[in-house]
Amino acid sequence: MKSQTRVVVIGGGIAGCSTLYHLTQEGWSDVVLVERDELTSGTTWHSAAQVTNFGMNQTMVGLKSHSIALYQELRDDPDYPVNYHHGDGGIRLANTEAQMEGYRHFASMARGIGVEFEVIDAAECARRHPLISTDDLLGGLWDGSDGDIDPAQLCQALARRARKAGAEVYRNTPVTGLTQHKDDSWTVHTTKGDINCEIVVNACGYRVNEVGAMMGVHHPVTSMEHQYLVTEEIPAIRDAGHRMPLLRCPISDYYSRQEKNGLLVGFYEQDCKTWGLDGIDPHFVNALCPDDLDRIMDVLEGAFARMPALEEAGISTVINGPITYTIDGAPLVGPIPGKRNAFCIIGLRAGLGEGGGHGWLLAQQIVHGEAVYDTWCIDPRRFTGHGNVEMTALKAIEDYRNEFRFHFPHEHRPAGRPAKTTPLTPVLAAEGASFGVVNGWERMEYIKPSPDFEPTHSFRFDEAFDVVASEVEAVRTGVGLTEVNGFNRYELTGSGVHDFLDRMICSRVPRKSGKVGLGYLLNHHGNVKTEATVANLPASDRGPARVWYGSAAAAEWHDMDWLMANLTPEDDVSIRSLTNEHTILVLAGPKSRDVMRSVSRDDWSKAAFPWLSVREAFIGIAPAVVMSVSFSGELAYEIHVPNAQLHAAYLALRKAGEAHGMRLFGSRAVESMRMEKGYLHWKADILTEFDPYETGLDRFVKMDKGFVGKAGVAGRQANGLRKRLVTLSVDCTHAPAHGGASVMRGDAVVGTVTSGDWGHRTGLNLAYAFVDPELAEIGTTVEIDILGERVGGSVIAPPYDPDYALVRA
Ligand SMILES: Cc1cc2nc3c(=O)[nH]c(=O)nc-3n(C[C@H](O)[C@H](O)[C@H](O)COP(=O)(O)OP(=O)(O)OC[C@H]3O[C@@H](n4cnc5c(N)ncnc54)[C@H](O)[C@@H]3O)c2cc1C
Repeated sequence: MKSQTRVVVIGGGIAGCSTLYHLTQEGWSDVVLVERDELTSGTTWHSAAQVTNFGMNQTMVGLKSHSIALYQELRDDPDYPVNYHHGDGGIRLANTEAQMEGYRHFASMARGIGVEFEVIDAAECARRHPLISTDDLLGGLWDGSDGDIDPAQLCQALARRARKAGAEVYRNTPVTGLTQHKDDSWTVHTTKGDINCEIVVNACGYRVNEVGAMMGVHHPVTSMEHQYLVTEEIPAIRDAGHRMPLLRCPISDYYSRQEKNGLLVGFYEQDCKTWGLDGIDPHFVNALCPDDLDRIMDVLEGAFARMPALEEAGISTVINGPITYTIDGAPLVGPIPGKRNAFCIIGLRAGLGEGGGHGWLLAQQIVHGEAVYDTWCIDPRRFTGHGNVEMTALKAIEDYRNEFRFHFPHEHRPAGRPAKTTPLTPVLAAEGASFGVVNGWERMEYIKPSPDFEPTHSFRFDEAFDVVASEVEAVRTGVGLTEVNGFNRYELTGSGVHDFLDRMICSRVPRKSGKVGLGYLLNHHGNVKTEATVANLPASDRGPARVWYGSAAAAEWHDMDWLMANLTPEDDVSIRSLTNEHTILVLAGPKSRDVMRSVSRDDWSKAAFPWLSVREAFIGIAPAVVMSVSFSGELAYEIHVPNAQLHAAYLALRKAGEAHGMRLFGSRAVESMRMEKGYLHWKADILTEFDPYETGLDRFVKMDKGFVGKAGVAGRQANGLRKRLVTLSVDCTHAPAHGGASVMRGDAVVGTVTSGDWGHRTGLNLAYAFVDPELAEIGTTVEIDILGERVGGSVIAPPYDPDYALVRA
């Protein structure tokens, strides 16, 4: 066994084998995999091993496409052919028009990454899957590339190829401890000796937290028991002359695929069970949980009703095994939060189908620092402090029970709520607020017109449309107040802060005391990593001069990681997170200055406190940091208040606002207004796939100074733009163009929507999209595939207050 290597991958299921293989593909051959038992002896060996292409966003569809292409290649390898049924096809069923519309959106989204799904009616479903009845069925989504693979052969094939490329695999070698050294390298302790390495990867399936504990972290991953059964031969299958497609049923929560001449049917019962929360027997190897068919009776009936042939079929095998879940159902593939040189590929609940792609994206992150796709949807840093064991278990149960029911826009499911609140949450609830969840934070979406107001889940504009319109109108014509909690905020102190930020940000960082500026941080490839507001707080009796770095609510761990990774011992910089200590109250609208004047004794005139200023002040009796910045496009003040004084500040503002007709407004009004103004959302419109020029941020790039990513962006510039982010005016009134929707010209996909919403001040249906650069000219016409319909659209300039007169007023 080697005692020194570059990467140690711990765990020899599909996750570990795929990572090892892809590391060699990315050019690193001095890599090893250690497995406590035999390869695939965790969950992988007993997987139903279906391989599908469906995903909720382009990253998921793209990585699954990679799996499918790789598995085809392995199937066709004459030296070690893998048994892979590719192209049986698969149907996701639907019994409501809203589900069908969702499928139409996902088909539009997948087309942009080269995958064609078909939305078919009930009769066509039955034609393609002759065993199903069409009772209570509207239709479904057809995924032509669905199939299944032999999981053990797949892992052996990947390990075999990795070994051929120089990697080594040590079986029956349990990892017993991990030690990190001062230079961030690791020693992996095993029963057979130590291995020193630069980087460790946790790919330990349901034992993820045993290995997590060895490095002092808890991963938000829990296991659920999951059962499938395999039937004896079914004559109709034997005689069909073709293989049966896969089925996924969100109506009765089961799936099926053909196994020999019978069916394999798996269940997501409501009466489901977590597994291993209190520890896992060390001897649970190549093992299963006890069968429990009683538990699945509710869903079994639904499967029988859909496929009556099942009722006649004998059962040959029952499998009940642990399957891992995270807080939002997607796995954790990327850097381990708070650790250096440590990565994970864990929480896979569809690891056979996705594993090829996840290993590919992880290897790219390890070797190149970033993958070809934006990987935020699988980034381990997307859950912050609330990702504990209890929360994970609650969300895992909820997710398991809804396995095939996708989230609708604005749908926030109830388990594990409230997780993060402020003193204002109950106050706003009493005002009638409807809440959504942002990184665990309960954030006000709008004030409900009546206590029982509950919009229908839909991809169309919903019943909240007019409610949001009236909140926007109140802000446009008068003044509105909202709470933005969980906003990421670090305080930076030390003599080197401005030089450090200037190095990290591609534009010039404001250095003047009392000034605020917006900037972008690039990765080493010159693509946009994150967006930050930098505010220079003047010295006062509350403290010395200091800098506040603000960014998206979910970016707390992500941005800290990036800043810390670039901080050197020579930099005199300290960084402290204030994210959980402060909350923002936003006052917006032409009368917001009048409210500020009545609630705070400072001079709030334009001359004394112009746009992009920051100062400390008192809001009534509450100390606050006030910034004159605006995400709505109206004159506005961001009032940052310590949570202990938040209620006091809110009461003072409410009282002062009475005379000015102040209304509460929520995040949906903000969304409408920011789109009219051309402002971007991190991880919707700001993606690591594009550089600042492609993202339309040209004015923020100063090539006459040094910054992280400068060489990358210079190199990228030489190759020209790949895409360009534009604002589109969309010619329909029934639905927004949701993120992912394809922008078309004729039959060609020429772009992808990133955000879409109704602009209530302009009366325009607006979308942002990355389109082919030659289509970025104002006035260019395109079509957008919205819920299966081609809708006209044209490129426009951000339509609201293009001269910034209102924010500067
Ligand atoms: C009943 C069932 C049906 C399923 N059906 C499908 C399906 O149809 N399609 C699909 O895509 N997915 C399916 N899945 C999910 C899929 O099987 C899993 O996502 C996948 O197998 C997980 O692979 P893994 O490599 O992450 O974990 P595992 O296969 O559990 O591998 C982890 C490995 O880490 C090793 N390990 C743990 N601790 C240590 C240590 N200390 N030192 C060294 N090694 C260690 C273990 O021994 C194990 O081999 C199903 C799961 C179940 C339970």
